[in-house]
Amino acid sequence: MNKVEYLLYAYKKEIYLDNIWYLEMFSIHTENKEYKYIVIKDNIKYLKVDEHLLETTTLNDKPILNITDTIKLKKFDIPCLKEDVYTSIGIFIANILIVAYPFNNKVDYINNIFTPKVLESKIPNLLKNGIITVEEKDKFVNAVSFSLNFNKLFSYSFTKVSATPAPGMGKYKKELKAKYDKEFGKDWIEDEIKALQFVNELKAYDNKYINKDPSYGKILSGKIVNNSRPRMYMSFGVESGFDATGKDSTFVIESLSEGYPKDKRKLRAIMNSARKGSYDRGAETQQGGSLVKEMQRASNTLVIKDGDCETKEGLPIYVTEKNLKVYKNVYVIEKGVSFFKEDLKEYIGSTVKIRSTQYCKYVDSFCTICGGKDLEEYKNGISLLIIASGGVVLNISMSKLHKAAKQLVNFDITKYIR
Ligand SMILES: [Zn+2]
Repeated sequence: MNKVEYLLYAYKKEIYLDNIWYLEMFSIHTENKEYKYIVIKDNIKYLKVDEHLLETTTLNDKPILNITDTIKLKKFDIPCLKEDVYTSIGIFIANILIVAYPFNNKVDYINNIFTPKVLESKIPNLLKNGIITVEEKDKFVNAVSFSLNFNKLFSYSFTKVSATPAPGMGKYKKELKAKYDKEFGKDWIEDEIKALQFVNELKAYDNKYINKDPSYGKILSGKIVNNSRPRMYMSFGVESGFDATGKDSTFVIESLSEGYPKDKRKLRAIMNSARKGSYDRGAETQQGGSLVKEMQRASNTLVIKDGDCETKEGLPIYVTEKNLKVYKNVYVIEKGVSFFKEDLKEYIGSTVKIRSTQYCKYVDSFCTICGGKDLEEYKNGISLLIIASGGVVLNISMSKLHKAAKQLVNFDITKYIR
């Protein structure tokens, strides 16, 4: 029995639904004794397969399986696999657990690193079209919760690269500063744009060091790469602090690893940044919360009523790739007549009028056409949709804490002109 055969055995016998199996397969066991799925005798590891013991060539100080190992699978080895593939053991496990276990062959094998979000976005339509059942959706949710156990076994939360500055960063920074001094004069440091450019160049240097590390794209991603690492090892950055005009910014060229700066203005900028972050998080989170309550009270009694108010008025929407997912299952008005559309793909790049509750002629309620197909199926659901916007306020203020440092971005104005 080779690795693939054993993995397929684990799938068929459903032992992949047992936490202990993962622990014994993917971590290092060394004690000579009988475990649940393996036996170690005279430092040789055996797999328990039905009533038999199969000797493995796994060294005593190595796990039996490795998530990054490549395996070859044949079509229909598991029901959702529709073609022969080379895949990794990790991707295979993700698929049997999160795809095949809940959905059997109704959702295809995903042969790349993916998050549950990929499936979450498909589920509403699969449910609506009767392809999957509510029970299957629940199985998916349970499988995803179960997979959270893995974060202790498979984690790149700490590597040498993730915890150290890029070699030569100090020297590179010195040289870069000398270059800026020569090119722009000593005062460049007061120029916000130049300062941010400077930080970007440091980030690019750092990126060459971290981008091949296994933690890159995992713990080394998003705010850690864009914010925390630069502050720690490169430069604290440009701080706007509490100033209301947005003009009084301070460039703290030192990184936190170089210690607190003696310059009072810079020290003030660092402290203000920390205070602003905590303040925003507290105060604006509160705002988001109370906004939700207010909107819920205001919208609690709103319901959708059957019928069509036959309004000829609608909300003009300029359709782009980006806002496509916001407008689904809506009614479009063309030449005064309303048509149902699952999505607005065909209107990308143009403006289209859609039926909206804003223009509904019903009094004290809304018709099913203005409300759209989704609300037609859930007539008391209006307040749920409305309070979702409170969550947006919440998320913005939470993320401020992490993104308080100013960043330089390319803005192509032509993309924003309609
Ligand atoms: Zn209406």
